[in-house]
Amino acid sequence: MIKGFPKPMARLIEAFKKMPGIGAHSAQKLTFYILQASRKETDSLIRSIGEVKQNVRFCRTCNNLSDEDICSICSDTARDPKLVCVVEDPNGVIAMEKSGVYNGVYHVLLGELSPIDGVGPDELKITDLVKRVGTDGVEEVILATDFTTEGETTALYLLEVLKPFDIKVSRLARGVPVGASLEFADSATLQRALEERKEA
Ligand SMILES: [Zn+2]
Repeated sequence: MIKGFPKPMARLIEAFKKMPGIGAHSAQKLTFYILQASRKETDSLIRSIGEVKQNVRFCRTCNNLSDEDICSICSDTARDPKLVCVVEDPNGVIAMEKSGVYNGVYHVLLGELSPIDGVGPDELKITDLVKRVGTDGVEEVILATDFTTEGETTALYLLEVLKPFDIKVSRLARGVPVGASLEFADSATLQRALEERKEA
């Protein structure tokens, strides 16, 4: 516990420090902000946190984040359900959506293969993907896992798993920098990577 602060403040600072990208200094600044904010603002913040925990879940079809059983992308009839883009996490969906050119649906793996960290195929939503491909009339799967060692390993594994199916499997074109996560690629790069995707 940090000395010099009243206990409730020290506890809040400790809680903020656990958040990604927040160091001791930012944690103190945020705590002072909370202290000075109006009751209305802090109540609204508390409510938002509660609602996120209560209402946000994974889409039953694609594992994207959603406040419904089926997410807004899967339930959008204007999108092409025969085209499935496989991404590692919900940030990948957001990155692809920002590119503005993709009109298919997604499959979120919720991770990437990483034997060193003990993440094998069973830890990811791969069985769900195979089931979707086998039953949903999917015509093309675009592998949009990250261009990192783990992302490439995941893409290669998926390629093997999807081989028995009579569908096109493609990989985003290079252009997304090697070693980079999808979420850090700018929209123009992603657009090009999607348009120039190659059969894997
Ligand atoms: Zn969905």
